[in-house]
Amino acid sequence: MLALVKTAPGPGLELCDVPEPPMGIDDVRIRVLKTGICGTDLHIADWDAWAEKTIRPPLVVGHEFVGEVLELGSNVNDLAIGDMVSGEVHVVCGRCRHCRAGRWHLCANSIGLGVGRDGAFAEQVVLPVTNVWHHWPRIDRETQAIFDPFGNAVHTALAFPVLGEDVLVVGAGPIGLMATAVVRHAGARYVVVSEPNPFRRELAMKMGATLVVDPRERSLQEAQAELGMVEGFDVVLEMSGNPAALRSAISAMAHGGGIAILGIPTEEIAIDINEIVFKMLTVKGIYGREMYETWYKMTVMLQSGLDITPAITHRFPFREHEAAFATARSGDSGKVILDWTA
Ligand code: NAD
Ligand code: ZN
Repeated sequence: MLALVKTAPGPGLELCDVPEPPMGIDDVRIRVLKTGICGTDLHIADWDAWAEKTIRPPLVVGHEFVGEVLELGSNVNDLAIGDMVSGEVHVVCGRCRHCRAGRWHLCANSIGLGVGRDGAFAEQVVLPVTNVWHHWPRIDRETQAIFDPFGNAVHTALAFPVLGEDVLVVGAGPIGLMATAVVRHAGARYVVVSEPNPFRRELAMKMGATLVVDPRERSLQEAQAELGMVEGFDVVLEMSGNPAALRSAISAMAHGGGIAILGIPTEEIAIDINEIVFKMLTVKGIYGREMYETWYKMTVMLQSGLDITPAITHRFPFREHEAAFATARSGDSGKVILDWTA
C-alpha cells in the first residue's frame, strides 16, 4: 500500500510503498478515505526538537482520518465490513489505575497513532476495536475525517460551563475555530477570539465569534469595553501556546473564571500566580479527548445543528501532500484535508 512515511531522522516525508499493517484478533483494518493534517504532522515533517526527541523512524505519520472497515479480527463482533469509522489516536494500556477505572483519557502509558505507532496517512490503517468510533451516518465525510481535532475543541470548550458566559478563545487555528462554533452552540453570550492572522480572524467570524481581536493592535480590555462587559471573561480557551497570549488572557479574566489550556508552548511560560490566587481562577490542562464522552458530545452537537465545516478550507489528493503540508504550514488556512481515494 502507499503511505506517507518519515523514512529517516531529518526533515521531509516520502510517499512509499510499504507492507499492509498486520492485524491482531482485537483489531480492525480500515481503508482510509480522507485525512486531516495536524500541527503534529508538521512538526514530524519539519523534524523540530520535539520530533527528534519523540519519533523513531521509519514511521507512517498521520492520525486524523475517516475510513471504511475492511477486515475484523476474530474477537471483534460489534462492527461490520463497510462501516464508516474514525479512530481515537491514543491507544491506552488498559491496565493502569485510570484505565481500569474507565478514565482512559488519563492513561499515562498511551501510545499515539502516527507518533508512537504507524499512522493513518496511508491507504490502510489498523487499530484496536476499542479505538474505533463508528459514525452516525448523516455526518458529512470531511467532518468525520477531523473528529480527532474536533474532539480536542469539544473537550476544551466544555471543560467549564459556558451557558450564558463570556468566553475568550485564544488562537484561531483549526481547533480554536471549531471551539468557537462549539461554545456558541453551547449557549455562550459573547465569544471573543484573539488571533493575529487576518485570514483566521475572518474564519472565526464565520464560526460565530461575536468579536475578533488582533492582539498586536488591540487589548482584550478594549474588546471588553466595546461589548459593554464589566467583569472579565468567565471562561478562557487557550489554543495558541503563546506566552504573551496566555498572560493577557489571564489578566482579562473575571473572578471565579476557568481557563482550559490546550495549546502546547515550546518554552516555559512565567505567569503571575497572584492573579490565579486573588481572582480564584481554575486552571485545567486538556490533552486529547475523553473516551468516549467527548466523541458522544461531538456527535450529538452535530445532530442538533452544530456546523464545523467552515473551518475546513483546503483539499488535496494525497499525492499532492507537499502542497497540502505547505498550505497547512502557511497559516492562511483552516483545516487541510488529504483525499486518499483521488
Ligand atoms: P495552530 O498552530 O494552527 O493554531 C494556533 C493559533 O494561535 C495560530 O492561528 C496562531 O496565529 C495563533 N496565535 C499565535 N500567537 C498568538 C497570540 N499572541 N494571541 C492569539 N493567538 C495567537 O494550532 P491548532 O491545530 O489549532 O492547535 C491549537 C494548539 O493546541 C496548538 O498549540 C497545538 O499544538 C495544541 N494541541 C494540543 C492538543 C492537546 O491534546 N493538548 C492536541 C492538538 C493540538
Ligand atoms: Zn492505562
